[in-house]
Amino acid sequence: MTELRTLKVALLGCGNVGAQVARILIDDADALAARTGARLELAGIAVRTIDAPRDVELPRELFTTDADTLVKDADLVIELMGGIEPARTLILSAIENGACVVTGNKALLAQDGPTLYEAADKAGVQLSYEAAVAGAIPILRPIRDSLSGDHITRVLGIVNGTTNFILDQMDTTGAQFEDALAEAQRLGYAEADPTADVGGLDAAAKAAILASLSFHTRFDLENVHCEGITGVSAADIAAAKDAGFVIKLLAIAEKLTATDGSEGVSVRVHPTLLPREHPLAAVHGAFNAVFIEAENAGELMFYGQGAGGTPTASAVLGDLVSAARRIVLGGPAQTETAIGQVPALPIDAVNTSYYIGLDVADQPGVLAKIAQLFAEHGVSIEIMRQTIHRDADSNVESAELRIVTHRATEAALAATVQAVKGLDVINSVTSVLRVEGV
Ligand code: NAP
Repeated sequence: MTELRTLKVALLGCGNVGAQVARILIDDADALAARTGARLELAGIAVRTIDAPRDVELPRELFTTDADTLVKDADLVIELMGGIEPARTLILSAIENGACVVTGNKALLAQDGPTLYEAADKAGVQLSYEAAVAGAIPILRPIRDSLSGDHITRVLGIVNGTTNFILDQMDTTGAQFEDALAEAQRLGYAEADPTADVGGLDAAAKAAILASLSFHTRFDLENVHCEGITGVSAADIAAAKDAGFVIKLLAIAEKLTATDGSEGVSVRVHPTLLPREHPLAAVHGAFNAVFIEAENAGELMFYGQGAGGTPTASAVLGDLVSAARRIVLGGPAQTETAIGQVPALPIDAVNTSYYIGLDVADQPGVLAKIAQLFAEHGVSIEIMRQTIHRDADSNVESAELRIVTHRATEAALAATVQAVKGLDVINSVTSVLRVEGV
C-alpha cells in the first residue's frame, strides 16, 4: 500500500468548538485519512492560556501561545478563536503562506470578508466557512454548489438559536421577554451579555453571508437592516397566536423590484409573523433552519442544530476534508463565484405585508373609517378581524382590531400608521410587525 502524504493542520482556539475539532482529528484520524487521501496531522493548538481547563483531554505538547509560528508551518489552518483580531491577521498570514483556511468566524466574515476572500483568490487557496452560518447545518455548500445551476429568489433563515429559544418560550408558555431570556441564560442558550443575539447582530452577520452566496454579490453588515427581538412583547405573541401566526426572528435575503422599478436585493433581520402552517413555524427551541426558494428547485428547507461544540465541529471537519482533498488532487481552489453588482435595497424600498394591532373605540363606523384611511395611503387590507373586550371595572367596551395588509412599502405603511394614530377612535397602536409566507 502506498504511504499517504501528511498534511499539517494548525488549530487556532480550543474552546467549545476547537476542543471538539481536536478530538475528532485525533480519534477519527484513520477514517479522515481514508476520505481525504492524506493523513491530517494536528500539528499544534494555539490558545491564550496553555493550562486552562479543556472540554477534551488533549496532549499538553500540542498547545502553544505562539499562533504566528504555528500558522507559518501549516498546510491547513482552522481558525476557531473568534473575534476580529488576531484572527484576521492570522488568517491573512496563513493565506499568504499558501495554507487553506477553515473558519467559523461570522463576525469577522461579515465585517471584513471581502479582504479575506480576495486574499484567498489571489493566493489560489481555499477559504471555507460552513460553520459560520447555522452551525451543523450544511447550508453554504448547497447554496454555492448544489444550487449553482439555479436562481435563488429568496432565503428565509432562523439562524440564531438563542432568539428562537426565547420566542418559542414566549409562544408556548406566554412568558414575557425578560423571563424567557432569563430561562435561556439559565439553560446556557444565551450568554451573560446577550446583546449580539437579542439585538439581531449575530443573525445580521449570517444574513450578509447567506445573501452574498445566494445572489453572487458581496454584502456586508452595512447592507443589512437589523432589528432585534427586545421590543417583542407577550401581548404581540398572544395576538399573533390568536390570528394564526407565530413570531420568529428571520434573516431574509430576497430579490425584489424596488418602488422605483429597479432590481435589487433586500437583506434584513427582524421579528416576523409567519403563518403557523409555514415550515419555519415548526422550528422550536434553539434549533435553526434555512428555507430557500429557487426558480427551478422550488422550496427547500435545511434544519438542524445551529450551535454547540460538537455539531459545529462537524461542519468544520467537512470543510477541512474538502480543502484537504483539493490539496491532494491538485487543481485550482474554489473561489467565490462571479461577483455580480446587484445593489442592496434600503428598507424603505422594500415591499412586505404587515400585521397591525389596534386598540379602538367600540363604535359604529370605526372599521369603515380605518379601511378608508388605509385605502387613501395605498395600503390594501387582506385580513381585518375585530375582538370586543369589556373592562370589568369601568364596564367600558373596546375593540381590538387585527389587520394584515397586502404587500406595501415601509414608507406607505409608516404614513398609514401615523395617520391612524391621529383618528379620534384609536386608543393605541399595539403592534406593527412584518409578515412573511402569506
Ligand atoms: P470559545 O469557546 O470562546 O473559544 C475560543 C478559543 O480561542 C479559546 O480556546 C481561546 O483560548 C482561544 N483564543 C481566543 N483568543 C485568542 C488569542 N488572542 N490567541 C490565542 N488563542 C485565543 O469560542 P467557540 O464557542 O469555540 O467559538 C469559536 C468560533 O466559532 C467563533 O468564531 C464562533 O463565532 C464560531 N462558532 C461557534 C459556535 C458555537 O456553538 N460555539 C457555532 C458556530 C460558530 P483559551 O482557551 O486559552 O482562552
